[in-house]
Amino acid sequence: MKLLLVEDEKQLSEALTQILIKNNYSVDAVFNGEDGLEYALTDIYDAIILDIMLPKLNGLKILNFLRKEGISTPVILLTAKGSIEDKITGLDCGADDYLPKPFAPPELLARLRAITRRKGEVINDNILEFGDIKLNLSSYNLEVNQISISLTLKEFEILKYFIQRPNNIVSKDDLITKLWGFDSEVEHNNIEVYISFLRKKLTYAESKVQITTIRRVGYKLEA
Ligand code: CA
Repeated sequence: MKLLLVEDEKQLSEALTQILIKNNYSVDAVFNGEDGLEYALTDIYDAIILDIMLPKLNGLKILNFLRKEGISTPVILLTAKGSIEDKITGLDCGADDYLPKPFAPPELLARLRAITRRKGEVINDNILEFGDIKLNLSSYNLEVNQISISLTLKEFEILKYFIQRPNNIVSKDDLITKLWGFDSEVEHNNIEVYISFLRKKLTYAESKVQITTIRRVGYKLEA
């Protein structure tokens, strides 16, 4: 399991990294908010341990940005300030858990197990299939042959929407109202960006499935 640790206190970061590695996690440690955001946006992590007070960009802003981008990686917030307001703000921003400093490492390990497990429990171990692709509803991964590619939450939702309507034409407005809601500010060009990311992932996996553009109408998933 791959973790991102965003913590500016070097000693704490090193201590945690060692403990996590000992517990069979692989860890990328970064020491400021900007790096934290950049790494987290790659969406390759199974969980993120995120300090709130960070140089350059604070943890809550990072978390807010990630959730807006549809990145649903479980996040544990760390903070020296154990105040109720911080806790509420953190959970409102989309944190999965919250750990006030100082904490005992076994507690962090237990919470990591809980949030990574929770992700798989939300939806059962279902697989949606279309052509040569499999969409794993518990890991949000796209599986083609032996290749497994992680999707962002919105990429996952879009692909799931397509697979549930095989060979139907889906308009950009359908996607916006069904996946974002009527009053969202998502525009057609945002959808185009998501579609292009999905296409890149399908191409990368050498899938025969394609998202075809039907001019002026929308898209169609074809095997
Ligand atoms: Ca800090």
